[in-house]
Amino acid sequence: MSDSPTPELFDKIVNLSKRRGFVFPSAEIYGGFRSTYDYGPLGVLLLRNVKNAWWRSMVQLRHDVVGLDASILGPPQVWEASGHLANFTDPLVDCTNCKMRWRLDKLDDPDLCPNCGQRGAFTEPRAFNLMFKTHAGPVEDSGAVAYLRPETAQGMFVNFANVLNTSRKRPPFGIAQIGKSFRNEITPGNFVFRTREFEQMEMEFFVPPADAATWYDYWCKERYQWYLDLGMPADQLRLRPHDPDELSHYSSGTSDVEFLFPWGWDELEGIANRGSYDLTQHSNHSGDKLDFLDPETNERYTPHVIEPAAGATRTAFAFLLAAFHEDEVGGEARTVLRLHHRLAPYQVAVLPLSKKVELQGPAREVFALVADRWMCDYDETQSIGRRYRRQDEIGTPYCVTIDFDSLEDRAVTVRDRDTMAQDRVPIEGVVAYLNERLL
Ligand code: ATP
Repeated sequence: MSDSPTPELFDKIVNLSKRRGFVFPSAEIYGGFRSTYDYGPLGVLLLRNVKNAWWRSMVQLRHDVVGLDASILGPPQVWEASGHLANFTDPLVDCTNCKMRWRLDKLDDPDLCPNCGQRGAFTEPRAFNLMFKTHAGPVEDSGAVAYLRPETAQGMFVNFANVLNTSRKRPPFGIAQIGKSFRNEITPGNFVFRTREFEQMEMEFFVPPADAATWYDYWCKERYQWYLDLGMPADQLRLRPHDPDELSHYSSGTSDVEFLFPWGWDELEGIANRGSYDLTQHSNHSGDKLDFLDPETNERYTPHVIEPAAGATRTAFAFLLAAFHEDEVGGEARTVLRLHHRLAPYQVAVLPLSKKVELQGPAREVFALVADRWMCDYDETQSIGRRYRRQDEIGTPYCVTIDFDSLEDRAVTVRDRDTMAQDRVPIEGVVAYLNERLL
């Protein structure tokens, strides 16, 4: 694929999402609520699979990373220490002609309003804080101010000592978390790419200062590979090191994993070498020591942090875009989502050839066998050809068909989404057959 944007693919995915139940506009019966979305029956499975794949690779398969689920609501002190109250801002400009608001750093031309085309009509930029502010408790005074977290990362920093004292982990080790974050984005958009409420998958990896550069390189490679292993095509994925003028003041290195979206290259994840900034800030503000005494060298140090920070909702969207294909089968157009089997909403669909009552027994038997291990759809209406197309369109890797011969030979037909090859497999062997292919 070339670098040229593909706007028609964007429309196809938005349509498919709505039509098949991946993503719905939120509060739609009331006209929608700008830039919020609800994940439907298929979307919730896809999103969950993206998060599970991340958790598996970042926590389950590692001995040096533990998990956390911190609160979304937090007191101002956390955001004071992290720098978010002072610095988590975007430069906002108003167009004096059409009154639209823009994020200055995301405009192609900083002098031209993309809505009305007026040049030189912007106000001076002002810093707009992206955090959602609310009040905890019955009194709305300043003592009750709380913030919805704009990232999950601070939960890991403020729990650094708790985890260190309870988990028997020592640097190098990491704390991982998946959860919702909230940002009052000035210009949300591009479907679920930029929303005000979204999910993140973040990990803070605490290392001895001397090893930070090595671990930074390690995590850049590791995170890039994760997307490839889940089927993201290499020509739609790149790792882009930040230019020195893009780096935050505490970061000695940041790279973004970028995907070729329909509008061009854009960020899926940032991997940053954050030095000792976060632990030092929280240590200074809280008065608690957030450091580590190495029992072997007797040296006390504040660990440095390597942070891979990814967006779950944004990444699920990218996997959908990358998986979308249209081909032709027997002169008919076919839409197929070539999702990796770990990401597909359903891994298997059980399809009795007809609704006839005698097929229901074996079909339910196969469903029970398969559903014990994988998400399994069950569909008995319409022609089998149409049902195959429906499953192709939502990315189901295997369809199992029960026909009238099954009543005689206790065997079923298993069809492969990508090759469309069909195998006859004994009911007793279906789980083993699928197990080999759905590892
Ligand atoms: P951007 O420059 O796009 O605003 P960022 O660099 O501020 O993003 P980070 O703070 O590094 O983003 O957040 C880590 C990840 O969280 C991003 O790479 C992205 O996948 C996800 N993310 C951030 N903001 C949003 C949002 N508004 N909607 C959806 N996902 C988001």
